[in-house]
Amino acid sequence: MTLLFTDPLFLKHNTGKHVETADRLRSITARLEKAELIKQCQAGTYKPLSEDAIGQVHSARQIASAKQVAAHGGGRLDPDTVVCADSFEVALAAAGACVAAVDAILTGKAPNALCLVRPPGHHATPTHSMGFCLFNNIALAAMHAKKAHKLTRVLIVDWDVHHGNGTQDIFYEDPEVFFFSIHRHGMGFYPGTGAADETGQGKGAGYTLNAPIRFGTTRKDYHAAFTRALEKAADTIKPELVLLSAGFDAHRRDPIGSLGLETEDFATLSRAVLDVAKTHAKGRLVSCLEGGYNLDALAEAVQTHLEELLAVRS
Ligand SMILES: [Zn+2]
Repeated sequence: MTLLFTDPLFLKHNTGKHVETADRLRSITARLEKAELIKQCQAGTYKPLSEDAIGQVHSARQIASAKQVAAHGGGRLDPDTVVCADSFEVALAAAGACVAAVDAILTGKAPNALCLVRPPGHHATPTHSMGFCLFNNIALAAMHAKKAHKLTRVLIVDWDVHHGNGTQDIFYEDPEVFFFSIHRHGMGFYPGTGAADETGQGKGAGYTLNAPIRFGTTRKDYHAAFTRALEKAADTIKPELVLLSAGFDAHRRDPIGSLGLETEDFATLSRAVLDVAKTHAKGRLVSCLEGGYNLDALAEAVQTHLEELLAVRS
């Protein structure tokens, strides 16, 4: 049984003519309905995060800025990051869903959870909303696991085609949260961070692992790099909980990432992450949607991912 966290409220983050559109969630939901997968999931319940809770990860100034721009009817938080009047409320809800998923999984309600949320989160740094992301949903979930559940070994896997620079920044000096990201890198690809020599600092040295992938890398080489790095990450942190920044923009048909993965590759990646969760973390996995911008490819890949989550026997 997989817990599914989603909400029509997430459609109210209206970004106009922007690739990170509410149609992404509509497309996913329609496909999951048609495949009769939603009724196989248990519906998760959540509350929006308070501003105080968001403040565990983000600066007061950043929170106030997002709130103020939304209150004035919307605008841009950075050149890529559009908000409308409802976006602040929706962002608190998206983060709340990811945090509630951690509570549910750590109290044994289900082995794994999928959070189909937006806006996405992994580019949001401790001080800046950027790259379509207001607040860092996965980082807030990891911080909650540390503070409320006293976990000291959390693994975040980020297979979105973009480097999760925000998540990296937040935990760069933290040995309790291992951040592993595989992403396209080089030739000016966004956001530009995530080189192999970025490995953490201070007490967190060795707890960040980046697997940068060049444009044109074969699927075979991508999988080899992913498996090698994931094993290293899992052996280092031996996670009590695995969190996944599940972006699907490394898909061949994605208009932004175009790294060349096929839909079935997301089954392989899902199984590898589930294996790590099973080996170390009693199967406990919380997956949170990040990017993915071809509406059909995104829905197909999410279906494939959810099928693997549902295949886990509790
Ligand atoms: Zn992305």
